[in-house]
Amino acid sequence: MSRVAVVTGGTRGIGYAISVELKMRGCQVAANYGGNDEAAHKFQGETGIPVYKWDVGDYESCAASLKRVESELGPISIVINNAGITRDAMLHRMTPEQWREVIRVDLDSMFNMTQPVINGMRDRNYGRIIHISSVNGQKGQMGQTNYSAAKAGIIGFTKALAQENARKGITVNCIAPGYIDTEMVAAVPEKVLASIVAQIPVGRLGKPEEIAKCVAFLASDDSAFITGSTLTANGGQYTA
Ligand code: NDP
Repeated sequence: MSRVAVVTGGTRGIGYAISVELKMRGCQVAANYGGNDEAAHKFQGETGIPVYKWDVGDYESCAASLKRVESELGPISIVINNAGITRDAMLHRMTPEQWREVIRVDLDSMFNMTQPVINGMRDRNYGRIIHISSVNGQKGQMGQTNYSAAKAGIIGFTKALAQENARKGITVNCIAPGYIDTEMVAAVPEKVLASIVAQIPVGRLGKPEEIAKCVAFLASDDSAFITGSTLTANGGQYTA
């Protein structure tokens, strides 16, 4: 039977490409999203992948929705924690709301999405958990203390969870993408983006599909000896 994979933020940007790649490799994919119904319906029409709306920042919603996915598709073997947001501001201008929103969606979601499924994975002695961190969690980024803290937190979470479950056939890894051509990056002012691209040795933004291929490898049986690691995919922008 094909494995069930949940992709958070799986209807747009990097998540869209991940959902499609995993489906192509034989998974039964459930694509989560947060609020953009129009994009989700478009995605469903284009890919035939079922979509599920819930807020990854809310534990109860995650627990209930993961249960629903399991009742409709079967036990979850693969979780891709991809959903994320930015609320950029220099710390001296950042509001508590901007701080909390990013920590809630980008970091609390790691707990919210893995805690409800980890016991099932342990019982079945199999699991693949992949988190999407960021180059800005590795190197820090001006104007993103909230985002950099959340994305660095993901790396620590990955290492600890990997150790806890290594003997149970569960691998936990994260990917730290550099700048990828999605709507999130399109929100960066043109001048700033040009200066960012100038710092990328390969001379371009990454493509969502390039991150999806990394996910597909870490979600496969071929990666069984890799756990607790961070795969850096940033066009040479930063050597972690
Ligand atoms: P997009 O903004 O293009 O898409 C974000 C996705 O996350 C959407 O599907 C969105 O749903 C979903 N989402 C946002 N908030 C919630 C929520 N509270 N609950 C459930 N789903 C939510 O982002 P990208 O594809 O660019 O980024 C994907 C991940 O990769 C993020 O974690 C990001 O931090 C990380 N990343 C991105 C980089 C880039 O250059 N693009 C670089 C490094 C890391 P909806 O459509 O409903 O809004």
